[in-house]
Amino acid sequence: MNKVFLTLLASSALFASLPLRAQAELDVVNLKSVIQRSVESDYPKLDALYKDIHAHPEIAFQEEKTAAKLAAEMRTLGFDVTEHVGKTGLVAIYKNGDGPTIMVRTELDALPMEEKTGLAYASADKTIWQGRETFVAHSCGHDIHMASWVGTAKTLVGLKDRWHGTLMFIAQPAEEIGAGAKAMLADGLFTRFPKPNFGFALHDGAFAYGTVLYTVGIRSSNLDGLYIKFRGRGGHGAVPQATIDPVMMAARFVVDVQSVISREKDPTEFGVVSIGAIHGGTAANIIPDDVVLSGTIRSFKSEVRAKMLAGIERTAKAVAAMSNAPEPEIKFTEGVKAVINDAGVVATAEKVLKAAFGDKFRPSPPVTASEDYSEFINAGVPSMFFNIGVYEPERVAAAREGEGPQLPTNHSPLFAPVPKPTIETGIEAMTLAVLSVFDEHAGGK
Ligand SMILES: [Zn+2]
Ligand SMILES: [Zn+2]
Repeated sequence: MNKVFLTLLASSALFASLPLRAQAELDVVNLKSVIQRSVESDYPKLDALYKDIHAHPEIAFQEEKTAAKLAAEMRTLGFDVTEHVGKTGLVAIYKNGDGPTIMVRTELDALPMEEKTGLAYASADKTIWQGRETFVAHSCGHDIHMASWVGTAKTLVGLKDRWHGTLMFIAQPAEEIGAGAKAMLADGLFTRFPKPNFGFALHDGAFAYGTVLYTVGIRSSNLDGLYIKFRGRGGHGAVPQATIDPVMMAARFVVDVQSVISREKDPTEFGVVSIGAIHGGTAANIIPDDVVLSGTIRSFKSEVRAKMLAGIERTAKAVAAMSNAPEPEIKFTEGVKAVINDAGVVATAEKVLKAAFGDKFRPSPPVTASEDYSEFINAGVPSMFFNIGVYEPERVAAAREGEGPQLPTNHSPLFAPVPKPTIETGIEAMTLAVLSVFDEHAGGK
């Protein structure tokens, strides 16, 4: 008879004389084995779902068939499913008495690229994107997230006598273009449906399976786009005194803007500006009228971000002033904000995940990539975003020691997670994380 930690922790008076930590660890281990047995028996179906989704990926806002597959799975489990929330997104609700509402999010979308893994279930699918035909592949592993999401839902429904509250499972479109979370919110995600009290999401990465990485606070970066048009006055390359040279301004800006990073920003804080494109001019002996630059800006903290944007704008204007040119046209396009994990949610899940995974659950530095889950956090859902590994631990160790090849990362055409241990870890970690929060906030605490 499993008197699990949930009830034990909730009525700890009985065990007041026992060391609570030891008691909790013991019971989490017990609960983990209950979850593992459930996942093991569900796995063949999840494997089939994973391989089907992997072989037939769909790109941002085209995820109609993928969403329909998930909707069918969730209806079978007894969830109340609403489709087409934020174009192709879906919301699945499962009510189980009084308690908090907890959101679990997966992404739906794949990438416009060719898969080169050679796996039996590799994608050969193509689609039309931005007016061009392209291959499509789940090279970011969002298919792993979907299988873990369905498996977590199934496991939590199987354990429904051990928690009370509401599950809000959402499948979000278009994460790769940073537009899907916004689309779901704009379509009434937190007004047509209950606004969750807490939220969770996971992402896979090129490290050992069975390992779960997390942080308190910042988990991913702020992303902003940069567009600058330097306006000059065109003319003959041999008569520069009759022109205002925008190529000169662009060249000076590309170099000088890095002093914002090295001189203005605190060197101990993360911040990057990279100019990825310069367009201007047509011939060697013609000074053009204008030159356009575009770039990307990454940061973790909003104050660092603000400082960088101000410095970039000031540098661009100063460069134009030096040439006695008109003010440049400067546009910042706000991409996505940093994911910031809630200290309370992490502290609650941490106790349970540490007991379940030992040193395979550990803190790691934030990633410099960006992720639009931050939209849900900024809409007021305290959350925890964590990462799970996908490769054999021996291959990861060999790559680290320089004794084996580097392992393909997310967005590589060779990215190939080992499905079973990766999905099982995703389900176990997510199920335990959700249960820990239900337990901590049982009875409206
Ligand atoms: Zn990605
Ligand atoms: Zn991704």
